[in-house]
Amino acid sequence: MTDRRNDRPATLVRRMPLNEGVSRPVVSPIQPSVVYASPDIDTLHAQYEGRAQGYTYAREGHPNATLLAQKIDMLEGATGGLVTGSGMSAVTAAIMGLMGAGDHIIGADQLYGRSLRLMHQDLARFGIATTVVDPTDPAALRAAIRPETKMILVEVVSNPTLRVADMEGIAAVAAEAGVRLAVDNTFTTPIGYRPFDHGADIVIHSVTKLLAGHSDVTLGYVAAKDPADAKAIYDFAVTTGLTPSPYECWLAERGLMTFPLRFDRAEANARALADWLAGQPKVAKVLYPGRADHPDHARAQALLGGRDGNMLSFAIHGDEAAANRMVQAMPEMAFAPTLGDVGTTLSHPASSSHRGLTPEGRAALGISDGFFRMSVGIEDVAILMADLEAGLAAV
Ligand SMILES: *Cc1c(COP(=O)(O)O)cnc(C)c1O
Repeated sequence: MTDRRNDRPATLVRRMPLNEGVSRPVVSPIQPSVVYASPDIDTLHAQYEGRAQGYTYAREGHPNATLLAQKIDMLEGATGGLVTGSGMSAVTAAIMGLMGAGDHIIGADQLYGRSLRLMHQDLARFGIATTVVDPTDPAALRAAIRPETKMILVEVVSNPTLRVADMEGIAAVAAEAGVRLAVDNTFTTPIGYRPFDHGADIVIHSVTKLLAGHSDVTLGYVAAKDPADAKAIYDFAVTTGLTPSPYECWLAERGLMTFPLRFDRAEANARALADWLAGQPKVAKVLYPGRADHPDHARAQALLGGRDGNMLSFAIHGDEAAANRMVQAMPEMAFAPTLGDVGTTLSHPASSSHRGLTPEGRAALGISDGFFRMSVGIEDVAILMADLEAGLAAV
């Protein structure tokens, strides 16, 4: 084989740039390269010293991750965010990159299940002390602060009972104590709430959910306001290999293009379904932050400005057998413990996310055997209503 540009022989393994001529692709290219060649030693020095932008090895960064991070940065009002291989790796990098043995973290008591497991089991093995508090009660948070407290980790809307945290009160306690506030913004998304505009120091996402939106990637995102924090999080993530694949970043970037449209539609569907469910005699309770009967409705209005999101929960008058019949009678809704997909998914916390609790523990949270959480998708709402109608008829 001959390199036509200089007529010298070339090997088959020599990689060559694609020739696009005078045209350009409209789709972001996917760049699967793990390694990046530099033109010379001088350029490598410039890269390592931050004088030139470039890549070396994909675990340290690659163009598809950069592009995705920049788009999420734009939504969150952040700079220098990092995309990670999952939402949990973003949570882990934020905590483990910034904290060490002897430090203390305070978490909300209804965090995402695996984040709660970090609080209750894993962090203690590394000498990091943990306390969980009710995020609707800033006084409890203030009382839990210790001299060695380094971080507060909260979610704005809790899973699955959709309680709304007192974000203003929490941010005030964090500022007064000089403790970093980290917000997992997965449920609310930057359309509902932008933590950096309200005193947060760190923003975390499970990009797997609404941002990517199609249940075909697991990715996370973490951004820190303080560049020193961002650097420590980045170094921990790269060292421990929490970084993402180019293909998944590429898919997520495509998903993100329709995120605002999907969010609008899913939210409108959720609002309509919440109101419809509330009028059904077999439904005992509906939880949707946009409804006036939600316990934190006023706070939701103040924090989310009417962008109440696509998540709703409801309980039927009935036991687990009735709930099971309901699931079986609804073919349109995937019975699956995720959220934020284009399709509606239904989960039953008592048999999935909260099965580890005693029935009394679940009851204390308001999770009965007839309690469902629904992540509403972008389908025609009439089809979803018909499905729910069939489900309720089987109760
Ligand atoms: C799903 C989820 C996570 C974990 O994200 P993965 O991408 O599944 O690792 C973290 N926080 C919240 C609020 C979530 O819903």
